Amino acid sequence: MNKYDSELVAGLLESGGCSMTADLETADVILVNTCSVREHAEKRVFGRLSVLAHWKKQLPGKRLGLIGCMARRLGSELLDECPELDFILGPDNYRQLPGLITGGRTSPLVDIAFDKNEHYSRIDARRAPGVCGWVAVMRGCDNYCSYCIVPYTRGRERSRPADDIILEIERMGRSGYREVTLLGQNVNSYHDGKTGFPALLRMTGQISSVHRIRFMTSHPKDLSPRLLDVMAEGQRIMPHIHLPVQAGSDRILSLMNRNYTRQAYMDMVDQARDVIPGLSVTTDIMVGFPGETEKDFSDTVNLMERIRFDEAFTYHYSVREGTRAASMRDMLSEEEKLRRLDIIIRLQREITLEKKQAMIGRVVEVLPESTSRKAGDEWLGRTPCNHVVVIPKAGTSPGQPVQTVIESCRGMTLRGRPVHSKASVVL
Ligand code: SAH
Ligand code: SF4
Repeated sequence: MNKYDSELVAGLLESGGCSMTADLETADVILVNTCSVREHAEKRVFGRLSVLAHWKKQLPGKRLGLIGCMARRLGSELLDECPELDFILGPDNYRQLPGLITGGRTSPLVDIAFDKNEHYSRIDARRAPGVCGWVAVMRGCDNYCSYCIVPYTRGRERSRPADDIILEIERMGRSGYREVTLLGQNVNSYHDGKTGFPALLRMTGQISSVHRIRFMTSHPKDLSPRLLDVMAEGQRIMPHIHLPVQAGSDRILSLMNRNYTRQAYMDMVDQARDVIPGLSVTTDIMVGFPGETEKDFSDTVNLMERIRFDEAFTYHYSVREGTRAASMRDMLSEEEKLRRLDIIIRLQREITLEKKQAMIGRVVEVLPESTSRKAGDEWLGRTPCNHVVVIPKAGTSPGQPVQTVIESCRGMTLRGRPVHSKASVVL
């Protein structure tokens, strides 16, 4: 979501007469877009700010801005940490940027007010030419999971009008994008007053210039059978769902205010796998929530073993001031949280590896998207299930799907060889 927001801000600035540079030396203005979801992310921003403050002191006249969730969370307190900041803007205040940058304001400006009507509609996000891109379909979140800062930093949930989303995706298709991911904190509760998420997904799946549609994130409490049907029918809608479970213990799920049970989650995954054969299911898991006992933790481990996620993003609980969980009792020590995290990381690595190894010999469609960082003559691409595969560049081009036979899995990297027809493959 933050990467998309950066593209949105870049689009706003370009339409205001600015041009982008990645070169610190020649930049007149530097913007730091920030995330508050975990303390670690914020610490990294403070580290970066101290370097940038030094840069600014050396080069008078340059300006430094901090935008996004940390701006909203800390507001003018950030000036105590970094007096060199010229502006601090929250997630609903980006429209101010072009005026601020071209205007001659000399004192710092802090604007972090929420605007529940701000969808950033009709703005051309500035995307570097590419194959895969993002589009936010909604902003904010109303779920108030007890550990999470997002509702406090991004404000009320609001859905962007469907016709505006469709126009943006069509534009992306015309400029060469082949895969679009629809973004929202909880896309299942998308509703613009006329269109709900399953209908929106069906509409996006009919845009012929785009080859693949994905979406994230789905909240398990709102996943509907209708959505699964749309996924099963729509050829362009990829068979992958990111469905964060967070924990495998009902007691912890209730303390987290997630509004589903372990059993309901497992049933949902079974149903989704029945309706969409070959579906890949990924998740987010958090360990070390306040009061998490050994038994609660082993429920999470057991759920992972039973579901066998294709991939899991794993976190240890990070206290976020102002959230309900921050004042809960029985905080775990950092050491214990990290011990539990290590166990689930290892477990998931094993499962992911086994799943990847099971793909060897299969023919899958790969959409080449970027040059491999390790070898200039290879592409990185993705399968419909979102597995990354490395293939040789020869005879293929970015954005052109290729049938590929998976030949090996070294470390965690799948490698494949393009084939011209499925019939020519000897398995
Ligand atoms: N809207 C999405 C997730 C947004 S944040 C959803 O509901 O799933 C992405 C992930 O960060 C969450 O799924 C959660 O696992 C993790 N996360 C959020 N707050 C956290 C915290 N305080 N400490 C550790 N991890 C956290
Ligand atoms: Fe945070 Fe929960 Fe909203 Fe996701 S659904 S952004 S975890 S409050």
